[in-house]
Amino acid sequence: MRCIFCKNDSSKSRSVEHIIPESLGNTTSILPKGVVCDACNNYFARKVEKPFLEAPALMSLRFHQAIPNKRSLIPPISGMLSPGFPVTAYRYTKRPFVGMIDVPSDAVEHIFQNDGGRLILPIGGQPPSDKIISRFLAKAAVETMAQRLLDTSGGIDYIVDRPELDPIRDHARRGNIPDWPHHSRRIYDMNETWIDEFGSEVQMVHESDILQTAWGEYFFVLAIFGLELVINYGGSEIEGYRRWLLENNGDSPLHIGKNKVNSRLRRATS
Ligand SMILES: [Zn+2]
Repeated sequence: MRCIFCKNDSSKSRSVEHIIPESLGNTTSILPKGVVCDACNNYFARKVEKPFLEAPALMSLRFHQAIPNKRSLIPPISGMLSPGFPVTAYRYTKRPFVGMIDVPSDAVEHIFQNDGGRLILPIGGQPPSDKIISRFLAKAAVETMAQRLLDTSGGIDYIVDRPELDPIRDHARRGNIPDWPHHSRRIYDMNETWIDEFGSEVQMVHESDILQTAWGEYFFVLAIFGLELVINYGGSEIEGYRRWLLENNGDSPLHIGKNKVNSRLRRATS
């Protein structure tokens, strides 16, 4: 067995690969051991996923949406207790409120003497750099293609041997193309809820698909809590996706055609 990134023998590799990190709520999109070798798996965790997940915008998202990491912890967030005490807020499970707040002792005194401070926690924040987002997408794009071909005989070999995929896998592995562009936009609010086929209200944590355009380009389309991120499999340009959007009324490929939302889920608030 060979790794879909470095193409080295991976038959002794032990780790499974999460296409989207567990710390973004992924428990289902997982590649079996050996599809990505242990060395590549570790490298991506340290050099691509960690800087992605630890950008302030992602820390804030993980806190507010209460997404536990693989140790079942939700990352804490720094905030402010009015009129100006720095605090750290913690939460433990999927609850609508903050679990615990670390406050400096002078703030505690202030709260007792007054009516209590107002807790201000940031929403949003600095996103990961374009380069990290792009490499994160490149990794997930190649892995999603592998996932599609897992059950096909020779499918993983096909991915490994496909020269057209070499630029995108090199970009994921080395980041050697400094400005491989991606397309980013919000397609629904991060708190949007949907009704599933059982009538339960659910949140769309992440969804993804591969878009093939009429003129033969392939794009990987990922949405994380309504933030749609797109990368081109074939090279460092994104014009083809803009063109596709113009021809499709700006709809998301995740929600039209075969992915028409109404067939699976409907928006709870519309
Ligand atoms: Zn590898």
